[in-house]
Amino acid sequence: MLTVNGVTKKYKKFLANDNLSFTVNDSEIGILLGPNGAGKSTIIKSIVGLLKYDGTIEINGLDNRSLEAKRLIGYIPEIPALYDTLTVEEHLEFVRRAYRVTDENITEKLLERFELTDKRKKMGKELSKGMQQKVSICCALVHNPSVVIFDEPMLGLDPHAIKELKLLFKELKEQGKTVLISTHMIDTLEDYWDVVHIMMNGKIAATRHNVAGNHDEKSLEELFFQITEGAKS
Ligand code: ADP
Ligand code: MG
Repeated sequence: MLTVNGVTKKYKKFLANDNLSFTVNDSEIGILLGPNGAGKSTIIKSIVGLLKYDGTIEINGLDNRSLEAKRLIGYIPEIPALYDTLTVEEHLEFVRRAYRVTDENITEKLLERFELTDKRKKMGKELSKGMQQKVSICCALVHNPSVVIFDEPMLGLDPHAIKELKLLFKELKEQGKTVLISTHMIDTLEDYWDVVHIMMNGKIAATRHNVAGNHDEKSLEELFFQITEGAKS
């Protein structure tokens, strides 16, 4: 479970996150939807411990800056940050040892799950964007995190890779994990989410829960464009 409570982040005087509060529960997929510059990556970087901020962020009730909490987080950054000269399997092995994961089979399991076994000897710099993304995801899952956070995961992926990614989101949800995904592409959302927070100018402008029977409400798309374009309803 992820709890963000009153988080404010300024870059010098620029207010990038303005008193954000939201929760994503176990077995839930939460979406941060908003145009470029809305503040999505900023709150994600704060959650995973890369930025200083005001407010509180908890992972399963633990301060996100504690070592215990960090062990529970899996983070897939917007741009895969691979080592040019480590092979695919070396990446996983490196992360496994860094987290002191004792299950040596985990590398093999992940390579198989993500259909990377034939790429295991390829180096980071030899991989396509889609393959780099897969390695980045594997690295984030090696230590079996309970909160998995994806920053703009669909970017630059082909339709097949996007389809696979959506299956992964559902799989993680079924495993009871907390999943948080940022995106500016409303057309990729479809119906796999549990809660969407629409972000604009560093704030959460609206929240939608995916509850059956909410038919009299505005569609997510209408709401999104109303907020981002300031159109009248
Ligand atoms: P998003 O991920 O929604 O596109 P970001 O969180 O990356 O938005 O950025 C929010 C705002 O903060 C943008 O206006 C961006 O220019 C600004 N910003 C992001 N990172 C920095 C930084 N390191 N220094 C100054 N301003 C930044
Ligand atoms: Mg971003």
